[in-house]
Amino acid sequence: MQTIIVGGGLIGLSTAHALLERGEEVLVFERLDGVGQDTSFANGGMLTPSLPEPWNGPGVFSHLASSIFNPQASMKLRLQQIPSLLTWGVRFLRNSSENRFLAATLDNHRLARYSLEKTLEISTRLNFQYDFSGQGTLCIFQDAAHMDDRRRVSHHLRDCGLQLQELDVEQVVAREPVLESVRDQIIGGLWFPDDSRGDAHLFCRELASAVSAAGGEIRTGMSVSQLTCDNGQITGIVANGESFVADRIVVAAGSYSPNLLGTIGQSVSVKPAKGYSITIDGSSLGELPKSAIADDSSHAVITSFGERLRICGTAEFAGFDKRLRPERINNLFDVFESVLPEMAVRVERDHVDAWAGLRPMSDDGRPFIGAGSVKGLFINTGHGALGWTMAMGSANVLADLICGTMPDTDHSPFDPLR
Ligand SMILES: Cc1cc2nc3c(=O)[nH]c(=O)nc-3n(C[C@H](O)[C@H](O)[C@H](O)COP(=O)(O)OP(=O)(O)OC[C@H]3O[C@@H](n4cnc5c(N)ncnc54)[C@H](O)[C@@H]3O)c2cc1C
Repeated sequence: MQTIIVGGGLIGLSTAHALLERGEEVLVFERLDGVGQDTSFANGGMLTPSLPEPWNGPGVFSHLASSIFNPQASMKLRLQQIPSLLTWGVRFLRNSSENRFLAATLDNHRLARYSLEKTLEISTRLNFQYDFSGQGTLCIFQDAAHMDDRRRVSHHLRDCGLQLQELDVEQVVAREPVLESVRDQIIGGLWFPDDSRGDAHLFCRELASAVSAAGGEIRTGMSVSQLTCDNGQITGIVANGESFVADRIVVAAGSYSPNLLGTIGQSVSVKPAKGYSITIDGSSLGELPKSAIADDSSHAVITSFGERLRICGTAEFAGFDKRLRPERINNLFDVFESVLPEMAVRVERDHVDAWAGLRPMSDDGRPFIGAGSVKGLFINTGHGALGWTMAMGSANVLADLICGTMPDTDHSPFDPLR
């Protein structure tokens, strides 16, 4: 049976490939001119089972409330967005209790570990080129409270096998000599050796080639406006005004999934959380950081891909507005200057590639993976800040569910009808 997949980002393409591997036929519809050009384009590139916690942890309410009038806030709520966030926002806050936060963290961690295994397996087997590096993540801290918070979450995951090492300042600098000049501002670090990183957009392109080579079809420039169903059974889609028949559809349209699902009355609680990145040509900056560096105080990450250096972060509840706001870009330069000042001083601000994307954020911090309430409808979305980390795992879970096989990891926490 042919499956139509809506969305040619990390999640749609990985789902297409996982279905092809199980002998299914797939047809992917992507509204943009190429694959991986929306949120999967210039993200942080981190594959981090070590950082799986939802963003609505305890204390998120006061953080968001104070952000309304603070342009520097790492997580910012825009006043005019409050009406559109009401129902989702109430659930987002309700899920921020300590117990719910820790439960979601654990669920995400298990899926993320499974996903990393699958990512490494496919990319080795098919020789994907995506500036992969397996050098782990180094979280650095400027104050004890942030370090305690991260330690608490990490220790919670240690029982599930998370590998971590606590480092003093000497050890941080020994691991990452580029931090020598800021050693006085750091109180210590946590090192997660099993994390990896790679360029998500390059991975999407490799996946798209693998999908085509395996007999799947990807149609770009095709915007799906409507899902269709009859008597509780999916019948197809409408794309660019043309109807296409299908008994099975997977919606993997990132932040746009709720709009599309709404055309057949299916709801899914996802809202866009905007994030930014700047990518810098690092070829003349000397030795780039070996590991991904997560600066906990600013909630930003610094990663390198070959000779490119990327600084990423900030979350803004600003609806579907993808405009680049100068003050948010400046926040990223501030992070660059505070973590790697010697490199930052050599970079001209107007010689960087700035980008913004919309993370598809669920209200309880877990993605939605599985069947919808209409026969033949499947959903794979809501991965928030972890879509790259969880893509291959989510795809394999969904492909197993579609094919009637028991997934290798517990899928029940991600049921779209939960
Ligand atoms: C600044 C930033 C940094 C991040 N860093 C990381 C990181 O380090 N690690 C990590 O794991 N995750 C990270 N993420 C999150 C990750 O990028 C996302 O979770 C992931 O890209 C979501 O993939 P997706 O396929 O669901 O969405 P998308 O990549 O947005 O793909 C959805 C696709 O559907 C298409 N589409 C939408 N509507 C339609 C329609 N009607 N018809 C046809 N096509 C349609 C879109 O054009 C798009 O290509 C980051 C995100 C941001 C913004």
